[in-house]
Amino acid sequence: MKNTPPSIIALDGPAASGKSTVGRRLADSLGFLFFDTGIMYRAVTWIALEHDMNLHDETAITELAQNAQIDIRQPTQNDGRACDVVIGGKDVTWDMRSGNVDANVSVVSAYAGVRKALSEQQRRIGMRGRVVMVGRDIGTVVLPEADLKLYMDASAEERARRRYKEIVDRGEAADYDEILKKMIERDRLDSTRAVAPLRPADDAVILDTDTMNEEQVYTHILEMCK
Ligand code: C5P
Repeated sequence: MKNTPPSIIALDGPAASGKSTVGRRLADSLGFLFFDTGIMYRAVTWIALEHDMNLHDETAITELAQNAQIDIRQPTQNDGRACDVVIGGKDVTWDMRSGNVDANVSVVSAYAGVRKALSEQQRRIGMRGRVVMVGRDIGTVVLPEADLKLYMDASAEERARRRYKEIVDRGEAADYDEILKKMIERDRLDSTRAVAPLRPADDAVILDTDTMNEEQVYTHILEMCK
């Protein structure tokens, strides 16, 4: 890390590692843009499912990623969302977090053409600086020149517990064992794909959130930023 405060912060990690919550807080306190790149992969997957597209048709899904109009706006509801995600005039903020999208997003995000289309947009925004960008490949591929690279991790059981609580807190039904099983599978697909697999950059600071709570992680990162 340089001696000047970081302007580009890359925050990667597996599903439900706490990176979005911590990243959002960090961006707020630094006055930076918070950019959750998972939204883009989820949005493409949601559109494909909505239109009954064949997810194994790489050409069609890639074209969709190149042309999709995904609108990200200030939140209009106080229900835990960081932003409104609007597609074709419809608020899909929570639809995008459905089990169906969770189960299919890794197929879509493994396509090289999809990654190219989305990560070019991410990079263009990230290179402006004053940004906390959250994802799987930000420190390794999207913004390898980031001033600070962080990788948040936790055991699958702990992460599934958090995701379970998140869903129940929203008033929806959830099955812990099912969540755990699907999360392990999604991590497996994300970390074994050929293009931009989930992994910490060589120069990333690894934060194990099994042993640190959210407050400790946040304070620790903020210290690093000063
Ligand atoms: O972070 P989130 O769980 O919303 O991400 C959803 C999915 O999007 C991940 O499981 C992964 O397949 C994909 N993703 C990715 N690269 C990113 C961000 C997300 O492949 N930078």
